[in-house]
Amino acid sequence: MLILPQNSPSTDALAIGLHALRARIAAAARAAGRTEQQVTLVAVSKGQPAGRLRAAMQLGLEDFGENYLQEALPKLDALADCALTWHYIGRLQANKTRPIAERFHWVHGVDRLRIAERLAAQRPHEAPPLNVLLQVNIAHDDAKAGVAPADTPALALAVAALPRLALRGLMCMLPEGLDATRRRAAYGALRHLLAECNARGTRLDALSMGMSGDFEDAVAEGATHVRIGTALFGPRPAP
Ligand SMILES: *Cc1c(COP(=O)(O)O)cnc(C)c1O
Repeated sequence: MLILPQNSPSTDALAIGLHALRARIAAAARAAGRTEQQVTLVAVSKGQPAGRLRAAMQLGLEDFGENYLQEALPKLDALADCALTWHYIGRLQANKTRPIAERFHWVHGVDRLRIAERLAAQRPHEAPPLNVLLQVNIAHDDAKAGVAPADTPALALAVAALPRLALRGLMCMLPEGLDATRRRAAYGALRHLLAECNARGTRLDALSMGMSGDFEDAVAEGATHVRIGTALFGPRPAP
């Protein structure tokens, strides 16, 4: 449902953009024999001020993705009155895991056991398990972070055994400039890798893949979480 609050023109633009985006996700899901409910839209809000997140929330968005802790934590504070789901999608540095373990609900992009162990140790006991996705370097891109596909099932089994974490699935980022055929192949490879992990004993159900430029390819290949910034909020303001 499209709710138009009587707000600023930029909120109207956000409402229209969100409506169009949801229609594209739904069409991509239908074309793949899936439903739009199977795809969670993670609104990538890096660079956006808290007020814009609030406007997005009032339009029905519940899942937000942030990359930079220093920028994210004040926004989590500003929106503490809202029942939102926060996804940490940035690079994980071992010395900065604590606030992520304490404040976020999902972490996309764990690519080594040491980081997962820290998150497990730092997740508060009273909190529900932290949802974790392993970042896979699915396109064998030298510049990208991520565990090698061949090493993924073993890492998945090790992370799944840790307390206070719920290993949910796999995540990837593709190098820029791949054509649609190669993107589909890479996203399909991540889906196959998830099945391989499960054949070896994990119970993964989430695939975080697809961004503004290519989420339709990712949905076609089984994405359960698409991480979308610019196609929703427009170009990011300069930092
Ligand atoms: C910034 C970012 C996105 C969103 O990118 P857009 O192209 O703006 O949709 C998705 N995932 C990660 C990990 C990002 O850093």
